Amino acid sequence: MILDAEIKAQLAQYLQLMEGDILLKVSAGSDNVSRDMLALVDELTAMSSKIKVEKTQLERTPSFSVNRIGEDTGVTFAGVPLGHEFTSLVLALLQVSGRPPKVDQKIIDQIKSIKGEYHFESYVSLTCHNCPDVVQALNLMSILNPGISHTMIDGAAFKDEVESKGIMAVPTVFLNGELFGSGRMSLEEILAKMGNAPDASDFAEKEPFDVLVVGGGPAGASAAIYAARKGIRTGIVAERFGGQIMDTLGIENFISVKYTEGPKLAASLEEHVKQYDIDVMNLQRAKRLEKKDLIEIELENGAVLKSKTVIIATGARWRNLGVPGEAEFKNKGVAYCPHCDGPLFEGKHVAVIGGGNSGIEAAIDLAGIAKHVTVLEFMPELKADAVLQERLYSLPNVTVLKNVQTKEITGTDKVNGISYIDRETGEEHHIELQGVFVQIGLVPNTDWLDGTIERNRFGEIIVDKHGATNIPGVFAAGDCTDSAYKQIIISMGSGATAALGAFDYLIRNS
Ligand SMILES: Cc1cc2nc3c(=O)[nH]c(=O)nc-3n(C[C@H](O)[C@H](O)[C@H](O)COP(=O)(O)OP(=O)(O)OC[C@H]3O[C@@H](n4cnc5c(N)ncnc54)[C@H](O)[C@@H]3O)c2cc1C
Repeated sequence: MILDAEIKAQLAQYLQLMEGDILLKVSAGSDNVSRDMLALVDELTAMSSKIKVEKTQLERTPSFSVNRIGEDTGVTFAGVPLGHEFTSLVLALLQVSGRPPKVDQKIIDQIKSIKGEYHFESYVSLTCHNCPDVVQALNLMSILNPGISHTMIDGAAFKDEVESKGIMAVPTVFLNGELFGSGRMSLEEILAKMGNAPDASDFAEKEPFDVLVVGGGPAGASAAIYAARKGIRTGIVAERFGGQIMDTLGIENFISVKYTEGPKLAASLEEHVKQYDIDVMNLQRAKRLEKKDLIEIELENGAVLKSKTVIIATGARWRNLGVPGEAEFKNKGVAYCPHCDGPLFEGKHVAVIGGGNSGIEAAIDLAGIAKHVTVLEFMPELKADAVLQERLYSLPNVTVLKNVQTKEITGTDKVNGISYIDRETGEEHHIELQGVFVQIGLVPNTDWLDGTIERNRFGEIIVDKHGATNIPGVFAAGDCTDSAYKQIIISMGSGATAALGAFDYLIRNS
């Protein structure tokens, strides 16, 4: 049995939602993965009379496509879509059967109107929590538009293909054989990348806002909801709605919710924001702030938005090492997400740079997959919690190097090693390895404010207890500020503070 009893019970409920018949076209061989795939297909057909099966030969074996009767949809799964991709399979079955997707009609119309032939291939790992978003978006596009097709490829089942294409990060997406992108991408992001992004003219008619929030993470979402609840004209500009939580797997300290996952929390945030009359401008990056009569925010696309008050909630991003080789070999062995890209380094030698909690957690996870893990920490001691260090030191395939400075990540077309300096002796060493995971903390996204708002030496915006900055009418919240701690619940609290601060400011200055 390939599905356990609990999953089968859930699946049975979902399959009852299928609207029409579907046809799985199955291409199988005699290998183990084919055997597992056939077992999965058998279990599916045993659970729903709406699922029919036909043996065929597809481009990849093992694989199967999910089709309407008499009409191919172009949705194919190569490998066995279990793990994080199981939801992608269930959604594909339901949507191909005619069940409507939970997506804005505007986006559905946009997808249907795309002209041309687009064949997407996405390489995933079944433990990657960033992959299902991409797979589900591309599947939906294939289901809605006959010119679009998509094959999900489990990298672990097609190792030679992954090796020959030099794929070292997932998800990696190819369009008509050319690299299209890697990392998490939402449906809107994929559409924008295909040339469907709004331009400056789409913003030209916008009236000034009372509160304009820049940033769509926990701080920005909270600020916008608090502002909108005061009945004032509110907008959000966000480069990527959701923020860092989109890259977070388990969250256990969002008080009152015992366990959730980042993308799930981001979806709830979006749903909550959409309950109010808030103008959400997603996939838009702010590049300039200027205080005139009103405050102006200029976007990368050239549009200028005006507002009486602005709340900056642009959060933070992974800190880069800044050594030679890091940028060159990004996604070619240099990685930042151990959950996503770890499986691609099965049986290989990898390094983790950074001995804080995230670095040591990454090293422990990777030790279960990789042949050997070397941890490099700049300081003489690891900074991670004692319990994590204990676990790390109990593992047989981990080496910890302390008091070392990473000098260079070496490679040809992909990473082949790392050079470091022993800070005590000054000696340089080189280790041959295939992957480097950088885990050295975060930097605030405030570079675009150079020369405007007062920041501390770490680049964090200095705020008072109302969330106010040194510029009247400009407030800030969350990880981009000088708050002592950076957490979801703290960001949300400071977002609320900044919105109430902005509201008081509006009352005093109107
Ligand atoms: C791997 C990981 C695990 C974590 N786990 C936890 C946890 O378990 N519990 C917990 O409480 N915290 C956790 N955190 C921390 C938590 O995610 C952050 O504290 C929180 O997301 C900060 O929220 P924010 O809104 O301030 O910023 P962010 O979440 O960084 O959001 C910033 C927003 O601003 C946008 N933006 C940035 N620049 C611009 C620009 N120029 N123009 C327009 N928009 C812009 C971004 O696209 C994004 O929408 C974790 C963080 C990471 C990286």
